[in-house]
Amino acid sequence: MIKVILWDIDGTLLNFTKVENYAMKKCFEMFDMGVCTDEMVERYAAVNKKYWERLERGELTKAQILTGRFREFFRGEGLPGENAEAFNKEYQVRLGDKAFFNDNGEELVIKLKAKVKQYAVTNGTLTAQRGKLAKSGLDKLLDGVFISDEIGIEKPNAGFFDYVFCELAKGEDYEKNEILIIGDSLTSDIQGGNNAGILCCWYNPAGNTNTKGLRIDYEIRNLQEVEEIITGMKL
Ligand SMILES: [Mg+2]
Repeated sequence: MIKVILWDIDGTLLNFTKVENYAMKKCFEMFDMGVCTDEMVERYAAVNKKYWERLERGELTKAQILTGRFREFFRGEGLPGENAEAFNKEYQVRLGDKAFFNDNGEELVIKLKAKVKQYAVTNGTLTAQRGKLAKSGLDKLLDGVFISDEIGIEKPNAGFFDYVFCELAKGEDYEKNEILIIGDSLTSDIQGGNNAGILCCWYNPAGNTNTKGLRIDYEIRNLQEVEEIITGMKL
């Protein structure tokens, strides 16, 4: 029986695409860099994804990816890159300005409170994550929040999950098969769940293919399906 859910935040409970689009355009405005189109945000998002994967593989540090992604993106757009560091700093703040739930995720979290403990497990920066967790109300709805920036280790590393398990054990002892991670990323959430030996639920709204050969215990297109997993209706 599942007793604990570890929720990924960006791209899972919260819609990251919308807030990314907002924050990029806002920062372009603030830094007087001209118009940022939807296409530009899409090109940035592709660069950003590549950089986070490099962090997950341990090739770059968090500080390197945060400014590196903007430097590369600006260069590609023919924009000056010297303000990449300041731009990133402001961008982190703006990411916390707004929060949009996927699939009525808020209602789901509230409904599940009676059945399971729920925690956030998120990479990303302290500023952005604290901001969006407060903005969405998730900081109050969830039983706790684990941000890699505070722990000093990122998903998918087993060390990140060891820290989480240590903290959970202060309240109650759980078996690994009583803990379920739910996330949209194969490389951080599902790889992390595999490394940690817990149950894995891949949130895959686009219907992508599992190219990594990872163990996936549940695959869902809509977050509302989580209720069936918890009540044992979904196998
Ligand atoms: Mg995610």
